[in-house]
Amino acid sequence: MIIHSKKFVPYLLEADIQQAIQTIAQQINQTYTGKPLYILGVLNGAFRLVADLVRYLDLPAEVGFVRASSYQGTDTTGEVQLMPLPTEMAGKHVLIVEDIIDTGLTLERLLGEIQKMQVLSCEIVALLSKPSKLRVPVQVKYIGFEIPDHFVVGYGLDYDGLGREMNDIYQIANA
Ligand code: 5GP
Repeated sequence: MIIHSKKFVPYLLEADIQQAIQTIAQQINQTYTGKPLYILGVLNGAFRLVADLVRYLDLPAEVGFVRASSYQGTDTTGEVQLMPLPTEMAGKHVLIVEDIIDTGLTLERLLGEIQKMQVLSCEIVALLSKPSKLRVPVQVKYIGFEIPDHFVVGYGLDYDGLGREMNDIYQIANA
């Protein structure tokens, strides 16, 4: 698989990704029954994860999105751009849904903003996490896969705009 003349090889298959999301959804179902729940997806990468996660939930939840960006090509810029947060989150239990945690800077920034709102609680769901790259401590309650420090694309994740539509996740070749 070639994207923008970089080679990528299969890494996580659709069935395994879906299985991991179902497992997370079951835990959410158990924890949030009877509680007001707000699912906050982080655009662009988490659009697919949010869509699949809510298919496996059997409780009512509000869904909204925030846009964050810090990556250029295959590297983080270290500077997180954030758009205003939905005010409807106040008075609810918030689940931030992220595609991947790398340095943790996006989440640190987001958590700081959410703490200023009157939410009942705030936890993090991430499909992927690269623990070796974390620069700031973030507590992630629900993780699909911990992965090494290799650039990945697919299932919502892009390389310079391409690759989000793929159902499997690929990693950069010769990583
Ligand atoms: P952090 O703020 O934790 O460093 O970065 C989080 C964001 O960086 C993710 O939401 C994602 O957009 C981007 N990112 C981090 N690692 C990767 C990667 O391996 N592949 C892609 N496509 N994006 C990544």
